[in-house]
Amino acid sequence: MDIFSGLIGNEEIKSSLGNAILESQFLHAYIIEGPEGTGKHTIARLASASILCKNKGHGKIPCGTCNSCMKILSDNCADVRFYDAFKIDEVRKIKENLYDSATECEYKIYILNDVQKMNVKAQNALLISLEEPPPHVLFFLLTTDSSYLLETIRSRAQILRTKPLDSDTIYNYVRKNCKITVGDDALKEIIVASGGSLGYVIDMLDEKKSQALSKDRERAKALVCAYLNDNSESISFITSLFFLQRDKLKDLLSMCAVAVRDLALVKKYRGATLCFFTSTEEALELATKHSVRKLLGLYEAIDEAIEDLNSNASVSNTLVSILTKKGK
Ligand SMILES: [Zn+2]
Repeated sequence: MDIFSGLIGNEEIKSSLGNAILESQFLHAYIIEGPEGTGKHTIARLASASILCKNKGHGKIPCGTCNSCMKILSDNCADVRFYDAFKIDEVRKIKENLYDSATECEYKIYILNDVQKMNVKAQNALLISLEEPPPHVLFFLLTTDSSYLLETIRSRAQILRTKPLDSDTIYNYVRKNCKITVGDDALKEIIVASGGSLGYVIDMLDEKKSQALSKDRERAKALVCAYLNDNSESISFITSLFFLQRDKLKDLLSMCAVAVRDLALVKKYRGATLCFFTSTEEALELATKHSVRKLLGLYEAIDEAIEDLNSNASVSNTLVSILTKKGK
């Protein structure tokens, strides 16, 4: 049986979740945890289609051709719903409709994206739905970091962890399936910078998205330099970011953390595999100006700042706190 055909990598999830579905032994709540672009959405969508597929046991699951599969795989099924950027009002809506029967399928499936962004109040509201869900309801909670979820939520779901893909797998996949508008060397650089995220590579091959991502990377690089240089220009750059939304700042700081990690690594070992910088020379040039201690101090300060943001710290306080916490 070809389980979750179309999903590359993540063999463990394919076999554990795929077999549970084949044997109708699946649970009512799963947490799918992993870095951006490692297949969390794809797995939730394929699992939903597999559960509701009308042609189970015919060689391929999901079959991809029955009415149910076609609707789910194109995000047009009324009973498989995606929720983004979670708010307490939306959890309330789920609770209100939880006991209504499915419109066209055997199950109602809720796929909740970025659940680490839910505040405690919203998580508690969700918990009530997870505690005693009606038999026809299933949840997939997608997250980059399940440690931000209440233990009571984690204990009610099975956690499946997606893994970054290796470079060869990504290279072969995009060569076969994507329109490539860059040269082979540039493609390999993008793959190195992706840190194993197929989603990132696909976005970078899309002109519009790649422009936005390049802008984000440039901004992250500028912010890292501002913190390392710590002069009057730095202060004005840092204050110019006070307008950012909390989620945007969190994404930006996560990128900065990876960049600083690269700098500390390349300083210790020239041949280190880098995840942010695409050129070792560029990383080395920047790293040589600063001590490993200073780099690690900044890394820790950024890490703490991301946690502060999760506890609702303000954008301006968070940006300034890194300056004071990073040490000299
Ligand atoms: Zn099907």
